[in-house]
Formats: sequence, C-alpha cells, structure tokens
Amino acid sequence: MTTVPAAQNDSNADDGFATMAIHAGQDPEALTGSVAVPIYQTSTYAQDQVGVLRAGYDYSRAGNPTRTALETALAALEGGRFGHAFSSGMAAADTALRAMLKPGEHLVIPNDAYGGTFRLIDKVLVPWGISYTAVPLSDLDAVQAAMTPATKLIWAETPTNPLLNIADIAGLAEIAHQSGAKLVVDNTFASPYLQQPLALGADVALHSTTKYLGGHSDVIGGALITSDQELGEAFGFHLKSMGGVAGPFDSWLTLRGVKTLAVRMDRHCDNAEAVADMLLSQKKVRKVYYPGIPEHPGHDIAAGQMLRFGGMVSFRVVGGQEEAVKICSRTRLFTLAESLGGIESLIEHPGLMTHASVAGSSLEVPDDLIRLSVGIEDIEDLLADLADALA
Ligand SMILES: *Cc1c(COP(=O)(O)O)cnc(C)c1O
Repeated sequence: MTTVPAAQNDSNADDGFATMAIHAGQDPEALTGSVAVPIYQTSTYAQDQVGVLRAGYDYSRAGNPTRTALETALAALEGGRFGHAFSSGMAAADTALRAMLKPGEHLVIPNDAYGGTFRLIDKVLVPWGISYTAVPLSDLDAVQAAMTPATKLIWAETPTNPLLNIADIAGLAEIAHQSGAKLVVDNTFASPYLQQPLALGADVALHSTTKYLGGHSDVIGGALITSDQELGEAFGFHLKSMGGVAGPFDSWLTLRGVKTLAVRMDRHCDNAEAVADMLLSQKKVRKVYYPGIPEHPGHDIAAGQMLRFGGMVSFRVVGGQEEAVKICSRTRLFTLAESLGGIESLIEHPGLMTHASVAGSSLEVPDDLIRLSVGIEDIEDLLADLADALA
C-alpha cells in the first residue's frame, strides 16, 4: 500500500487568517466545480492499473480528500507545514505522545492539565514505561527544575482549564530546546485565531477540534500541526497505523466550522470580556478568572502571545458549592453542559462535572467555582441571564 503524502500547507503566504480559513485546501472541486469540498464518503478508491492511483488515494484510513482539505486548512491556520486530523482530541494526544516518547523517557506536564490528557499519561503511558512530572507551567523555574536527562517533551496548555492559567510559550520552547526536548502546545482553548504556538517556538500544536474549530457542538475531532518534517511523517505513520482518523463527514463538519472561526472568535471574545466585567461587579461573585483582566497573574504574557483573551470565563461565588450548583441550574440561556467552544453559551460546575475525576488530587478545583463557555448570542441577553441567576 502506498502512502498518501501528508497534507501540506498550500496557502499563499500573503493571505490573512480569515481568507485562509475559507480558501486553504478548499479550491473548488475539479470535476464539477463544487464550491463546497465534497464529502468523499468512501472507504476505497478504484485503481487504473495495479498501484496506479488517480489522485494518490488508495484507502480512507491512509487518506481521504475531505480529510486532506481539513488537514491543509488547519496547517495553514497554525502556520505549520503538516496537518493531521484525528477522530478526537484524545486520539491526537495519544499519537503525539507515542510518536514523541519511548519507554524510559520522561515528560513535563502542567499540574492543571486537561483531565483526559492527564488520564492518558498517568493510566495508559506510565504502565508502558513513560514517566512524568507535573508542575505549574506559569512558573518557568519550576519547569526548568523538572527537566531531567530523560526529558524529551514539555506538554503545555495555555490558557488552562478551568482556572485559565497562562504559560509563556516562547519561554517553555527555550527550556525544552536547550535540553534537546520538544514542546507540544494544546491550543484548544485559544484556537489558532488567537494564538499560534509554532510561531512562538513550539514544535507541535494540538487541537480538540471538537471545541472552537468545529464550533457548533456537533462533532468530535482532533488535530496535530507541525513544521518539523520528521514529526509530520511520524504523525502520519502513527495515524495510519493506529487508525484514529477523522471520518469524511466529521472532517466536513469541522471544515464548515473552520470557515467562520475568525468572526466567531471575535464575538466570543467581545461577549466574554463583557461577561467578565459584569461578574466583577456582582456581590455574589468572590473572584473572576479571565486573562483579559489586568490583575490576572498571566495577563501580560497573554497580551503578548494572544490576539485577544478568549471566550472562557470562570468565577467563584459566595455560598460555596451549594450556591454554585444552584446558579448552574438557574440560567435560561447558558445551558448546563460539559464541553466548550460552541456558538451556544454553556455553564458548568467543574468540581462535580468536568473535573470530578481529579477530586483529591493536585488538580482539584475549588468547589465554589463555575465555568462559562461564553457563546455568540446577543450580549444583553447573556448578561441578563447571568444577572437573574445570581440574583
Ligand atoms: C476537550 C479537550 C481535549 C480532548 O478532546 P476530545 O475531542 O474531547 O477528545 C483536549 N484538550 C483540551 C484542552 C480540551 O478542552
């Protein structure tokens, strides 16, 4: 079986972000002129003679044109050369970890890592002989101190979930590269519109495309983007070998979301800024976590490496867990649900929902904490909904 070449960024270097989101990898289809990338819902491809392929495709686990379009667009948006699209963010994380680490090697992870990533490393990779140290990534001295001769990878998230801590991507890249290690940045919370880790020195950007890239809460997916040829090939090899590929329809849905990423993100940011402002003035609110607030400890670094501060806002309330739980069930427009990054506003109690599995560990979150994924509805309606729930 021949190998389909990894999707390569084909964008014009002069094109802006919103232009690339609509055009990179998405030329009208040659046969009919279809403006929308077709959903190539096929498992296999006719060969004209043994081994003579019409367009480089032989089997859809190895490659599919709808997936290639998505991979090309994502590579362009992250400013990388190679993109790979997976069936979920966790499948992307699994491939990154296994392609970049061997048994006996060590990685540094955030002490507030995404719960699913922590579980994958702690429960799946550790038994295979990989070790890790969890540190607060906002503290570069702590990261430096955790580096060992066996450290081959720093795994970063910024902003983090749900406390929106900020890590200095360029600083982490320097520490990693000085000791011959690589840096992966899970860029899910920011999206490539707000932050481009490769330009700041990271080796790999990872996405749960389930969130802002897909943007409509209707598909699960993941992606890895890199400019490193060796890593690009290794990711493609692992993707094909382990098989966690994004299907044609999921790729199409994600690509449909990607086209509007820039306008959606600006509206998410506008609305989140207004929500953070409003929460700061509420008597029932003890503390607001949003990197756009000047008092946020990571504000200056976020201002330097992000275009804007994102659509996620967390806050602690007076009255402890009981009151926090009540507020979560009192909103009308903010839907009580896990996940984030869709056009609709969501509210959740991390301690009992997304972060229930880390109770009692160093990743535990305050029990009076509420997390908002601020959607793109009319801001007056969102503010009124929160004010009513907090009354
Ligand atoms: C959701 C999420 C993931 C996992 O992605 P799935 O698509 O759910 O597999 C990884 N990292 C972050 C930061 C996430 O929010």
